[in-house]
Amino acid sequence: METASFPYKIHQCSKCPGDTAYYCESCPCDLCPQCKENHVKDLKTIDHDVVSQHNKINYIPTQEVCVRHPSHVYTKYYEPCQVLACNNCQTHRKYKKIDVQTAYKTKRQQHRGTIHTIRSEALFYRPVLLPGIKTDFKTCRTEFSRFQSEMLTKAQTLKNFINFVTYDLLHNVFCDFDFKHRCLKQTIEMGRHIVSLQEYELRYVQPEFTFSALQFLSFTKTALPQIHITLHTSQLSMTESFNKEDVMESLSAIQITERGNRRVGNQCLLKLTSGAEFHQSLTLTDVDHCYHISCVTSDRVWVSDGNNLILTDTTGVPLEPQPVKDLCSDDIFTGNGLHTVNSENELIYINRNYDINKLSMDMKTTTTFIERTDSTWVPLCVYWSPSSGDLLVMMLRRLPWGCKVTRYNQSGQLAQTIQHDNTELGLYRVPHHITENNNGDVVVSDFEFGAVVVTERGGRHRFSYTGPPSGPVLLPCGICTDALSHILVCDGTTKTVQMLDKDGQFLSHLLSEPQEMGPPWSLSYDVNTHRLWVGSWWDKKVCVYRYITRQDALTGALVYRESRGQHDKGYSGVLQDWYTVDRERHPVLVWKP
Ligand SMILES: [Zn+2]
Ligand SMILES: [Zn+2]
Ligand SMILES: [Zn+2]
Ligand SMILES: [Zn+2]
Repeated sequence: METASFPYKIHQCSKCPGDTAYYCESCPCDLCPQCKENHVKDLKTIDHDVVSQHNKINYIPTQEVCVRHPSHVYTKYYEPCQVLACNNCQTHRKYKKIDVQTAYKTKRQQHRGTIHTIRSEALFYRPVLLPGIKTDFKTCRTEFSRFQSEMLTKAQTLKNFINFVTYDLLHNVFCDFDFKHRCLKQTIEMGRHIVSLQEYELRYVQPEFTFSALQFLSFTKTALPQIHITLHTSQLSMTESFNKEDVMESLSAIQITERGNRRVGNQCLLKLTSGAEFHQSLTLTDVDHCYHISCVTSDRVWVSDGNNLILTDTTGVPLEPQPVKDLCSDDIFTGNGLHTVNSENELIYINRNYDINKLSMDMKTTTTFIERTDSTWVPLCVYWSPSSGDLLVMMLRRLPWGCKVTRYNQSGQLAQTIQHDNTELGLYRVPHHITENNNGDVVVSDFEFGAVVVTERGGRHRFSYTGPPSGPVLLPCGICTDALSHILVCDGTTKTVQMLDKDGQFLSHLLSEPQEMGPPWSLSYDVNTHRLWVGSWWDKKVCVYRYITRQDALTGALVYRESRGQHDKGYSGVLQDWYTVDRERHPVLVWKP
């Protein structure tokens, strides 16, 4: 039994009567293996730091004996060569040595992110792919036999074709008679040609006694055009026998298409809970409102009011006093959608000069990402798209009034401009926030228009959402989309967060005048934990809610682990078979002992 080797008294899991083997540093609590599985997979606790019990008490299991000096144990670690040494070891003397315990802790720390991803994502998602692979396994024989027969037909056609060409070569091109005949024909042709050229030359230098200007002129008119000065007889070849198109068609008819990696849609992995559940809240100290929020990780968020843009952890206290000193603070469009965060956790924001800047994760380096070059347009709001890696910028021109969406690629180059109808009744009036949905739709909340305006990626208008049926006028502000392609929008009129599907159908009021905070004004969706961050307009509160959970039946990883534990060979076991129950979603693996 695994827990038997621990050098302390075994105590109980804090969630069930099982023996504890793990420890959650975030809760904190003790966990048995089963409860630990659930803990790292549950979206409620997915970002917790779970360590094994021996890490909790900083215990390193055994002192290991040096292979070169059996009476000594390893004490040092040489980083450049990644080797261990005891006090007696003479090798690698010139390198700086690290104490084994320190090296162990440092290495563990370095691998924490990877382990977290494996535990909470990979082990959870990968088994979901198994049913698909099994289905393919069943159908691939039929699929490929179709290709096989097609290929055999093609091969036969090609063979026939080659036979024909060979025959043609022997009987027409290289056959004795034809070859001689063609040469003879060419000799005669060339002879005639030489004669006509000589005649032409003679006419030109005609001797004096027969000189006639008339004759020369009539010759140039009639006979000359028929002389082909550049005539050459062709070299013998067999190209006539081949028809390039036939060969190409014969060889290219079988199409092999690359289908890419296996994927599982979020629809199979995630589902909505019965309603939004309050997760945590933070009260801010250095901003007065939450006009716009951009969540970075499950415990870091950028918040801006009209003047300040700060990064805070869950305490609400800024990590730095004033990390952004040149935030744009236009008097009309104050603080709406001015910032976003990219996959490197860098902040992208609109500055006072309407340039778009990038601030590094450590808040030490600011670079100009997109310089403002056209003074007629001002950027209103920005959104970095996790799916495409592009930056979407909503631009406004005041004279004449007009809006356009520009798309920049990762290196800051303009990739696309979607300009809309510039009349006063155009697609947008005063867009406040911009975001993108998983299907590529550009989603904009327009406060003046009272609508969520959605266009497809190319800019064609898809729909405008103006609130639930028979509801009051919508005053849309903060907006975001989630992993299930829902659109979430804050409504200033009803003080709600409304959820619609990707086609604009109202689904529910996700939040309705929440007690924990003032009216919802700004939104940010955390793609890793699937939590919704909501900022309030008139108080200093940001609340985090959970409304998405993982599908229940996805326990493949657990089954895998249990199966592996059932036989002695551990990792070297051979997967013999596996089958599914529960409508092909619940793989069970059978291991060969
Ligand atoms: Zn337990
Ligand atoms: Zn925990
Ligand atoms: Zn070395
Ligand atoms: Zn040694």
